[in-house]
Amino acid sequence: MKENQKKFLGIMFECCNIYKRVYVNKEGNAYEGRCPKCYAEVKVRIGSEGSDNRFFRAR
Ligand SMILES: [Zn+2]
Repeated sequence: MKENQKKFLGIMFECCNIYKRVYVNKEGNAYEGRCPKCYAEVKVRIGSEGSDNRFFRAR
């Protein structure tokens, strides 16, 4: 992982309308997290298109 990469990503969990940060997984290839309310999973691959977008939405 590059040093200048962020360690977390802001995610808007649309399922429950909650904004939360999710962190890089062990492999360092994606941001992974769960909605704190309904535990819906979200995974955002690092390096994929749109990775500069700081906001993603879980459904
Ligand atoms: Zn939810």
